[in-house]
Amino acid sequence: MLHESWEDQEEPTRREIRKQRSIARKKDRSKYKITDQKKREQSPSSPEKEGAVHGRVMYIRSHEIDVLYQHKIYTCTIRGSLKYEKTRKKNVIVVGDHVWFIPETETTGRIWSVAPRTTVLCRQEHFRRKKQHLVAANIDQVIITVSLGTPILRPSLIDRYLVAAAKGGFQPVIVINKIDLQEQFSEQYQLALRCIDIYSQLEIPILLISALTGEGIEELQRILYDKTSVFTGQSGTGKTSLLNLLLKTSLKTGDMRATGKGSHTTSSSRLFEFPSGGWCIDTPGIRSLGIFNFEKEDLHHAFPEVCELSKSCSFSDCSHTHEKSCAVLQAVDEGNLSPLRFDSYQSLLHEVSSIPASYT
Ligand code: GDP
Ligand code: ZN
Repeated sequence: MLHESWEDQEEPTRREIRKQRSIARKKDRSKYKITDQKKREQSPSSPEKEGAVHGRVMYIRSHEIDVLYQHKIYTCTIRGSLKYEKTRKKNVIVVGDHVWFIPETETTGRIWSVAPRTTVLCRQEHFRRKKQHLVAANIDQVIITVSLGTPILRPSLIDRYLVAAAKGGFQPVIVINKIDLQEQFSEQYQLALRCIDIYSQLEIPILLISALTGEGIEELQRILYDKTSVFTGQSGTGKTSLLNLLLKTSLKTGDMRATGKGSHTTSSSRLFEFPSGGWCIDTPGIRSLGIFNFEKEDLHHAFPEVCELSKSCSFSDCSHTHEKSCAVLQAVDEGNLSPLRFDSYQSLLHEVSSIPASYT
């Protein structure tokens, strides 16, 4: 019966067919389909052919993205099929991304594509959470900021940040700020000099500077030149003060501290360009470079001298704590390995061992 009733229907007129096709086109979601996207990816159209230019993502608001191109900001939207990727990947575009965009007016444009990223900075998430939230991209170096006075200089903290930098694939630079307080905090100053000795030997740039007096700033500017950097370190070490000095702006000091509690709602990264050259990514939502989820391998990168020494230990699984023929312990005894570094290594190693395997 059903069949008959279908056959009984009158044939649709051409006009009706056209109308139905038009409705179907409007409803068509195939442009958002993976297969269709793949086809488009294979298509020969390049960003240049579409009239796109190459810019850098400075800031992201809910629906708009500030892209810098030739010293001018273009407020951009994202091309439709890229939006689709966003739903799959969460952050299809992040601050620091190099993008191709098509300028539409003097101040607006549409992002066509995102260039492959060299490095990414992820938000420190809970161990159990699988999904990583990207915060920024294409960072070359991490400026590990510590200080004399408050907060007190703790070399072990520098080593923690070094592990984080190694894990992210960033070049580390150590900045010891508030050097104007050297007389008041002479013990810490002596410790700072020891740090210079230790880290210079490891070929890690280390500077003594003062955001207050400007001492050492020129050398920092030289290091920042032509690179994309991110400042990390405990709150109160002077990151905001340094940025103000370098950017010639007046971000409120303590801004980083106020938003630096890891709150997800207040975090919005921003890319700044230094007048003296180079870029900086400010990530207020990040407490500091997290080094949760790190593995023994990450320690090896951050402690190359310990790694090298351990090759001469008698046991391949030497714990470097009590073994008689331990090359690492021997180096500490003979003054060839800094006890500061040894202590940091041991405590970080202990942390690695105490993280349940399912979390790493
Ligand atoms: P942040 O939390 O790392 O961003 O640190 P801030 O830039 O907010 O600085 C914390 C405090 O340290 C502020 O009271 C600054 O005035 C002070 N401070 C920053 N740099 C220096 C410095 O070089 N010398 C001295 N004496 N104080 C500084
Ligand atoms: Zn050993």
